[in-house]
Amino acid sequence: MMRSSSNDQTVATMTQANPETLCAQPPRAPGEASSLVPPIVYSATFAARDAQEFAAMASQPRHARYYTRYGNPLHEQVAAQLVALEGGDAGTHDALLAASGMGAVSLVMLGLLKAGDHVVAQTNHYMGTAKHLSELLPRFGVRATLVDQTDLAAWERAIAPGTRLVVMETPVNPTCALTDLAAVARLARAAGAISVCDNTFACPLNQQPLALGVDLVVHSATKYLGGHHDLTAGAVIGARALIDALWPTQICLGATLSPMDAWLLLRGVRTLALRVRQHNASALELARWLEQQPQVERVFYPGLESHPQHALARRQMNGFGGVMNILVRGGYEPASRFVHALTLPRQAVSLGGVESLVVHAAAMWRGTMNDEQMRVAGIAPNAVRLSVGIEGVEDLRADLAQALQAA
Ligand SMILES: *Cc1c(COP(=O)(O)O)cnc(C)c1O
Repeated sequence: MMRSSSNDQTVATMTQANPETLCAQPPRAPGEASSLVPPIVYSATFAARDAQEFAAMASQPRHARYYTRYGNPLHEQVAAQLVALEGGDAGTHDALLAASGMGAVSLVMLGLLKAGDHVVAQTNHYMGTAKHLSELLPRFGVRATLVDQTDLAAWERAIAPGTRLVVMETPVNPTCALTDLAAVARLARAAGAISVCDNTFACPLNQQPLALGVDLVVHSATKYLGGHHDLTAGAVIGARALIDALWPTQICLGATLSPMDAWLLLRGVRTLALRVRQHNASALELARWLEQQPQVERVFYPGLESHPQHALARRQMNGFGGVMNILVRGGYEPASRFVHALTLPRQAVSLGGVESLVVHAAAMWRGTMNDEQMRVAGIAPNAVRLSVGIEGVEDLRADLAQALQAA
């Protein structure tokens, strides 16, 4: 609960609030001026009043008014809001923002790893993260062991005393398989490794990895946090000591979140709680209906009793999100006909926004992967990823029904 509703309410009191309140009212800086919506500070650089102030600006990490690659007044506000939403403590946790989700993933990898280090990660990951592990990091002498994320014994075998970083993503793109966050975080800690979870698919209202013992959370804020398919952004959230350790890499990589996208992100997060409630409810209803349809072979959605890890989902998630993986009976062609017959869900990559989106994964990767690579990446020829938006659920069901007739 909020301790204070006075105008002096600070970031520290905000972390006590309910998620709906944290979304609706971004943290305010003490003594902030009266404009209800924060201004977009579109300035690449900031002037000092005197030599002493300039020296102070230049030497303080993440100064909000020095040079926008180093920070911007809106970055401070977005970071404080994301820390609060992830259940972090304003006094001991912090966040860095990036120009994209991959900017955030790159920051964690390149900020923490050096030649000779060992990483343990999942066989399935968002494709950009998977490429990081298989192509980019090996160029810099970093070795990765990939494990079946659903197999705790495999994590236990792979995580060794020399392991530096343990990378998790749950629910994972696109299969919606889960990782036991508390158990893997415990293994990482015991081995002296840092653990990170990509929380994009769940979003902080449905899952809070920090509370389960995970060290760092990364987000593609392009998805649920922004929520409107109009901005590209990323974030890393964790204990301040770790965030401080990432900072020198952040300013070298230069994947800076633009002031405009920071502003759009603040605007998007205001309705996050409302949107996520609808995504959760509509997706669960549609997943239950879809798995009863004769043209559907299988639906993978963490909220379904038929999901192989449903018990784990109930343990570590408050809601199950808007994304599901639908296996259409009959293979590639019927799946392709189903996707093309849909009229409400738009055929586009990305997820987590107000508009429903659909992707036939095998069609997407056909140009760059062979069948065996797709099988290893968990991409079935008949798999369709549906991101359920906030349209009327009856309209979505009717559209899915007519498209299944065409499959
Ligand atoms: C989209 C996505 C990313 C990458 O984010 P961008 O904002 O597109 O760079 C990383 N992880 C997951 C799970 C994603 O869905």
